[in-house]
Amino acid sequence: MAFKSGHGKNKRFLRNRWIEFAVPRRKICLSQMIRLSVVHMPGYSYIGFLLVALALASCQTVSKEQRKNTSRTFNTVVVDAGHGGKDSGAYRRSGPPEKIATLDVATRLSQKLRESQFKVVMTRTNDTFIPLDTRVDIENATPKSVFVSIHFNDSRRRGIKGFETYYHSPYAAELAQRVQDKLCTISGSVNRGVHTANFRVIRKATYPAILVECGYLSNRAEGYEARSKEYRDRLADKIAEAIVEERFGAGVYRAASTGSVGSPAPNPSPAPPGEGPGSVPQSSRNN
Ligand code: ZN
Repeated sequence: MAFKSGHGKNKRFLRNRWIEFAVPRRKICLSQMIRLSVVHMPGYSYIGFLLVALALASCQTVSKEQRKNTSRTFNTVVVDAGHGGKDSGAYRRSGPPEKIATLDVATRLSQKLRESQFKVVMTRTNDTFIPLDTRVDIENATPKSVFVSIHFNDSRRRGIKGFETYYHSPYAAELAQRVQDKLCTISGSVNRGVHTANFRVIRKATYPAILVECGYLSNRAEGYEARSKEYRDRLADKIAEAIVEERFGAGVYRAASTGSVGSPAPNPSPAPPGEGPGSVPQSSRNN
């Protein structure tokens, strides 16, 4: 989910008390915010300075030189279950909150990727709040990786449904398209497209990073499906297939596990030091 969630806080559009002070009841983007702080409030130089500093800090993006294209060489996947803990994400009375659904899909995805011989780092393995910058730190501290963030969507318009995949770096465009294409092979699915976005976890990523919206919890049909563990397993399977094909080519993926989360993998192998569950630095929850 975008606007109510953590990553939504840093979308192109911000709305807070400072902005309402400048332009009441209006959503503005960061570049406008800088302009407003200078043009509309010449007497409030201190406030203007703060706004510019805030905007610049929020705009911080990995430069082209810092970006690494590991889309053909990665051996590790950082799997990010959106939200967690105090941040529930999208919430509907009829089903579990987004943070529970994302964790389940992420856990299933991780298991399938390990079965496909990838190393996996999960940003969270339980219902814990992990700040966005901590998630970014984890992904950027994981060399030879790609990053996949799992979310579900939400809308006041109940009729909206479908999959969306986001990326920021051009190096992640192909992976995003591949994931979207695979998800859209699920019968009855709606393709809402692949888009660029400024979500913090993909904007600040050194390695190719994507964010997948696995359907709308606010839609009756997709919300119902998201409550099914078989359906969540299918979502994880499609994403895993796309990741494997991005690295090794079409036709390589073998769906090995359709079991429930927590059941042992056929050939469990211990995660290398510093990887797998428990690698989240718990001490840096400072968002
Ligand atoms: Zn979300």
